[in-house]
Amino acid sequence: MPQPADFCPSLVGSMSQGAAGNPTVAMVEAAFRQDALPWRYINMEVRPEDLAAAVQGAKALGFRGFNLSMPHKVTVIPLLDGLAESAAVIGAVNCVVARDGRWIGENTDGQGFLASLKEVIDPRGREIVLFGAGGAARAVAVELALAGAKKIIIVNRSPTRGAELVTMLRERTAAAAELVEWRGDYAVPESAAVVVNCTSIGLYDAAARLPVVAESLRPGMVVADVVFSPAQTHFLKTAAARGCTVVDGLGMLVNQGVIGVRHWTGVSPDVGSMRRALEQALA
Ligand code: NDP
Repeated sequence: MPQPADFCPSLVGSMSQGAAGNPTVAMVEAAFRQDALPWRYINMEVRPEDLAAAVQGAKALGFRGFNLSMPHKVTVIPLLDGLAESAAVIGAVNCVVARDGRWIGENTDGQGFLASLKEVIDPRGREIVLFGAGGAARAVAVELALAGAKKIIIVNRSPTRGAELVTMLRERTAAAAELVEWRGDYAVPESAAVVVNCTSIGLYDAAARLPVVAESLRPGMVVADVVFSPAQTHFLKTAAARGCTVVDGLGMLVNQGVIGVRHWTGVSPDVGSMRRALEQALA
């Protein structure tokens, strides 16, 4: 049955590859429901060769923005009209926002992590150990550096990828950066205030162990993991048992969603209902 024009929802979405059952759909739609917003968030599977047409199509269909997962986070950049500061430094976009008819690329992964971390510690002036040098590590490291972290030690298995991230941090941010090639168990220096796992170790595997000397995790340190399923990784359980304050990857995922909804709608959504919807979808 035809509906009056103002019944048409505003549309946002996610463009992903092979992400059937994307749990963020339930999370974002819960935010819209909670605030009675006439918006819809739709997951669309887009093949890499179709991305340009999909981005153009989203504009034609009046979409207000969309999220992107890999490999689209990088290949979308030439298709956009502009980039926010951290997205330009990171070289990846996970959230696109329509502003005055222009597609602007944001990177809310690192911002989501930062919001979650700031609930327990301000990284300004701190020394941080960060495991990994992939997409999540780049986003988190850049955001920590832009938030005033003093020094970031990148610990990565592949020295080439690790060196690329360290060079980028040195050239594009004010933070000091150092590379440690990861061989065997890494001992976290006493001077570190925050330790973050940005590798995929532990994803969908509660028993997977991060190669780190457990005794080097000290009470008073904040230990975070970007892995969101399971939320309590082996690494976080080890850190909690050592008396560290822990921050899980669900907080990062929820907060990147919160920032996206705010960008698209101008409304600050209810974080609690988004987290509950995400937990249910993941369960
Ligand atoms: P990438 O594939 O880009 O990077 C993976 C990183 O993990 C690399 O640094 C890789 O090291 C390292 N790694 C993987 N396996 C091992 C291993 N066995 N030993 C040592 N190092 C290893 O992945 P992403 O950065 O995109 O994703 C990383 C994690 O972040 C995933 O679990 C993802 O789900 C999560 N994530 C969470 C988000 C959230 O909102 N909570 C948002 C985005 C991502 P090397 O360079 O040597 O290969």
